Amino acid sequence: MRVNLVGSTTEELVALACECGQPAYRGRQLAGWVYGKSARSFDEMTSLPAALRAALAEGTVHPLWNEVRRSASTDGTTKILAEAADGARVECVFLPYSERSSVCVSTQVGCAMDCAFCATAMGGLSRSLCAGEIVDQVLLVRAALGAAVTHVVYMGMGEPLANYAQTVRSIRLLAEEVGISPRRITVSTVGIPDAIRRLAGEGLPVTLAVSLHAPDDALRHELMPVAGAHSLDSLLRACRDWTQTTRRRMTFEYLLLDGINDSADQARELARRIHGCLANVNIIPYNHVEGRGHFHRPRRAAIEAFKRELERAGIAVTERLRRGNPVSAACGQLRNESVEGRKLEDGC
Ligand code: SAH
Repeated sequence: MRVNLVGSTTEELVALACECGQPAYRGRQLAGWVYGKSARSFDEMTSLPAALRAALAEGTVHPLWNEVRRSASTDGTTKILAEAADGARVECVFLPYSERSSVCVSTQVGCAMDCAFCATAMGGLSRSLCAGEIVDQVLLVRAALGAAVTHVVYMGMGEPLANYAQTVRSIRLLAEEVGISPRRITVSTVGIPDAIRRLAGEGLPVTLAVSLHAPDDALRHELMPVAGAHSLDSLLRACRDWTQTTRRRMTFEYLLLDGINDSADQARELARRIHGCLANVNIIPYNHVEGRGHFHRPRRAAIEAFKRELERAGIAVTERLRRGNPVSAACGQLRNESVEGRKLEDGC
């Protein structure tokens, strides 16, 4: 089987260079091209001897993703639809802010969690990505846009903790090979209690973001049929254990759906349930998903009222900025559009 360059450590690339009859430093140069300079072709790797480049082109796979389509919006948010050799497609999103820039990566092609409001859920799970494929999304964005990337958020397609080993390996590669500290990495999950505890023991100071979306088990189960199988009590116990073990503040994501989970009572219940957690709540107003049920984004006044109610209960609240309008789409929609000829609709 051909080796993936992205996904190999510098040590492994040194071993590879040696197997090709080259001195060890050639392997370190190769790592510099792949991870440091985000080189996407062997032609670019001008400091490597032609014979080594030819051997690598023959015996390895690089890059893992190729750009298929791009949509950029006026605020600088850029979505890239990427394709692997087997035809798998994922979205990677570049999000520039004033003092940092993030890439939002996918961990799976599709998703098995079946959340009622989510575009990615529509096609089910095709396959999980390997660590190199997760990391190569960051390298692709960096190379395609010529942009510096300071932060990575695991908030694209798929459930990171359902692809646990590859997700953890990708975080270590980003830290050790790409130079993006785990402190600048956020992992967003539907909330799998055992996997949260396991991640807490990895010694990786990432920020954990848990998608709650409902203050009670019945509604959560309706909205998130797979994740909702774990009770909120057991999930919140795992979150408390997370903050105790890692000593890091975490985030609860709360998708706001008009008339479904946005009442003052539900805000008070949410505040009661998460009371004492070292966490803030990130409110995510719903992005319309074509062909995905009957959900609506609440009006601005309702969003503000919900936030006020949480703040009154002493909870720190943020709201996810709506990015990517009008040309971009909610997570999963660029891919859906390419798969099914759908029209792009809404902001990220
Ligand atoms: N599987 C992970 C990462 C997925 S996407 C998780 O569930 O956390 C990241 C966030 O976007 C999640 O909180 C997810 O619930 C939310 N999301 C999904 N569909 C959305 C939509 N249509 N509008 C707004 N947020 C959405």
